[in-house]
Amino acid sequence: MSETYDITIIGGGPAGLTAGIYASRARLKTIILEKGILGGQAILTETIENYPGFSDMIAGTDLIARMEEQAKKFGTEIKTLVEVEEIATGKTFKVITSDGKIEARSILVATGSKPKRLGIPGEKEFSGRGVSYCATCDGAFFKDKNLIVVGGGDSAVEEGLFLTRFAKKVYIVHRRDELRAIKILQEKAFKNPKIEFIWNSHLIEIKGDNKVEKAVIKNKIDNKKTTMDIDGVFFYVGVIPNSGFLNDLVDIDEFGYIKTDNNLMAKTAGIFVAGDVRDNLFKQIAVAVGEGASAAYSIQRFLEEQE
Ligand code: NAP
Repeated sequence: MSETYDITIIGGGPAGLTAGIYASRARLKTIILEKGILGGQAILTETIENYPGFSDMIAGTDLIARMEEQAKKFGTEIKTLVEVEEIATGKTFKVITSDGKIEARSILVATGSKPKRLGIPGEKEFSGRGVSYCATCDGAFFKDKNLIVVGGGDSAVEEGLFLTRFAKKVYIVHRRDELRAIKILQEKAFKNPKIEFIWNSHLIEIKGDNKVEKAVIKNKIDNKKTTMDIDGVFFYVGVIPNSGFLNDLVDIDEFGYIKTDNNLMAKTAGIFVAGDVRDNLFKQIAVAVGEGASAAYSIQRFLEEQE
């Protein structure tokens, strides 16, 4: 990794892969660095039904595989399992990674977000032993089991619905009496006989010997605690943006999302941002893809101005 890249894209989700496609087609020397496997939050979703062009739905992994193939076809270099540890500014950017140092004329941050932990007793202890943050990955292990899903947003309801393919019963525990999830998902969940909502309630503890066996739920209205026999708990209580490694190279909002100008450039000239890690309003694959394309164009113009 010793050449200078025109763009180093950090993060291989929909925003990063789309930027790769656009930048490579503009004949910019482009590399994507991904600390895990490609796809980000999108591969944690079994079926995507709102990405335009796929009226029969598409699995997150399939959509990402197609984007990867397309980016590589136009010449984007992709390295997975490479984590960016630090970025030094100067005439060019020096990107210090777990796999060595690379130089880049511009950076695109497309690092997305990661699932938020609730921090209740039992959550960490039983992680991988009944506690999960990914229904797509772990759902099939819970055939005919009783599950709890915590949360009331799109992810909780969508993944709760997915889990009914395997589970005997899915209890969605939500802290209010109204869901945040979009209406079409609500309608499906209310109609599904395997889903039961536990409203105005918090999951406060997970218990068991070696694996999840019981869940303690506390009702917010009457403070009554109920212990339920349960085999697994899936948490969908929101996400945290992956922006911490950038330190003061960028400005962030109160939640950690990165602020940019209209061209998607952050505080430091040459650092651009796209997708869920940006302080945009709507966290969607379609939005991330649009921002990836826009950022690649902004970067192209930025690099031309530097010449
Ligand atoms: P989210 O929209 O932030 O929802 C998080 C849910 O967890 C909310 O219902 C929230 O309750 C609850 N919650 C948060 N903190 C909690 C706590 N400490 N204790 C108990 N409950 C807590 O997160 P998300 O569902 O992961 O979605 C993230 C983003 O991706 C959203 O913008 C979403 O629209 C998008 N997304 C879209 C799709 C799709 O279009 N199909 C699918 C998945 C995700 P309150 O409602 O009371 O705040």
